[in-house]
Amino acid sequence: MIKVVKRCEFPMPDGFKCNKPFKVSSVRAGRKYCDEHIGNDKRNAHQLSTNKLVTSSNAHAQTANEAHMREWVMAKMRSEKKDKDRITKLEKEIVRLEELFEKSEGNKRKIESAVHKEMNKPAYKEKIEGVIVKLLQKINKRIDDIEIKMEEE
Ligand SMILES: [Zn+2]
Repeated sequence: MIKVVKRCEFPMPDGFKCNKPFKVSSVRAGRKYCDEHIGNDKRNAHQLSTNKLVTSSNAHAQTANEAHMREWVMAKMRSEKKDKDRITKLEKEIVRLEELFEKSEGNKRKIESAVHKEMNKPAYKEKIEGVIVKLLQKINKRIDDIEIKMEEE
């Protein structure tokens, strides 16, 4: 999608335009205001605008400010709730993974102790010793063979 950079046309209290750059897709190029002022465009009136807050000390204006503030806080809370839900989901997943991990760690320990027990059995030791003795005998025989060969040369 091609993005077009436009400048905000919102009239600021000083009489100049806001002029803040914002990106629009060419499809929605009709947009006139930046993110901060978009709520002031009647086509986007549902969107929040920080500039809905007026500086007037007039009671009606103040009430309007409070309403906008409440609206803003509610929107913030909604988005925070979403974040919270996401975090809760992640936390649950972490707990699940931890439990799985602990289980597998427990299994590992069980296997280790079983192997350890098995290795300490006299029958097992004899078997190992038997294997080692056989290996040693083989090595000795090879050394003998080599020595004989060397004497022959
Ligand atoms: Zn603006």
